[in-house]
Amino acid sequence: MGRTSKDKRDIYYRKAKEEGWRARSAFKLLQIDDAFHIFAGVRHVVDLCAAPGSWSQVLSRRLYLPAVAAGRTGEQLPKIVAVDLQPMAPIEGVTQLQGDITSEATARQVISHFHGHHADLVVCDGAPDVTGLHDMDEFVQGQLILAALAIVAHVLVPGGTLVAKVFRGRDIALLYSQLKIFFPDVTVAKPKSSRNSSIEAFVVCRRYAPPPGFEPEQLQALLHSAWQAYGPDTQHSPLMRQLVPFLACGDLDGWDAEASYDLPAEGYVSLPPVQPPTAPAYRRAIERMKGAAPAREDSGDGSHVAVMATAAG
Ligand code: SAM
Repeated sequence: MGRTSKDKRDIYYRKAKEEGWRARSAFKLLQIDDAFHIFAGVRHVVDLCAAPGSWSQVLSRRLYLPAVAAGRTGEQLPKIVAVDLQPMAPIEGVTQLQGDITSEATARQVISHFHGHHADLVVCDGAPDVTGLHDMDEFVQGQLILAALAIVAHVLVPGGTLVAKVFRGRDIALLYSQLKIFFPDVTVAKPKSSRNSSIEAFVVCRRYAPPPGFEPEQLQALLHSAWQAYGPDTQHSPLMRQLVPFLACGDLDGWDAEASYDLPAEGYVSLPPVQPPTAPAYRRAIERMKGAAPAREDSGDGSHVAVMATAAG
């Protein structure tokens, strides 16, 4: 799809470029904040699965930059730690780590940046490369949330908030139950900028309160035994059938992620991406194709046809 056509078909894609957000996902976090005021009183935040960085931009613009403008310095400034498998271009006030959030080494690195302080908020927009096999995608997504929860258990202050992306698939009730062990207040939010056709939603988990005697290291075992205790029929056990409130958020009279909007009749310029990918997977493929064969070949009628090089070796 061309850039102009995407500008027309995806209003949040277009607005993101106009407002300088690296991705349209920024609006999801902003709309969640409009509904839940998740930034109120927050000083320390962890942004898990942060690349290309639009949520980190929101955190920087909402928390860090206003503190700088107010003349705060050093330890008084908000601390924002962002992690992703992918490298990310810098963002003011955001400490970046490159790593896998499911690995213990990455979790330790995140924790080390807080120097004994706690985070007030952890956000996780993690998504695996979707395979289209829904059970598999949902499972891997669930693993990312469990990894986020393991980091939460080390860094989140009692009373703190976790916001995490979920796929509302077949086994979602089990995940809600696991979250409710740690947070008495769990709501599922569907921001208006998240397409209705997508099964993605966001759990907003408030008032972090781990069970008495809980040690963060117990988390994996605890979650594992929850699966074992209820077996494959988990959806039908009373514990697993927790009801979690669902809230559609974002200005319901505002932009609709599913609608096409006409572009302004005059003077419209389609903007380039705010931050081009830092290390896209396609770059190497293009380089290999260029090296293996000419990228274009004369078709004989004066025009050129693109030639796909076989990227052997
Ligand atoms: N919130 C981001 C933003 O606003 O720009 C978008 C996040 S994107 C939807 C999902 C991200 O999850 C990808 O950048 C991907 O690299 C990251 N991710 C997936 N699995 C991960 C893992 N195990 N550890 C760290 N990051 C992971």
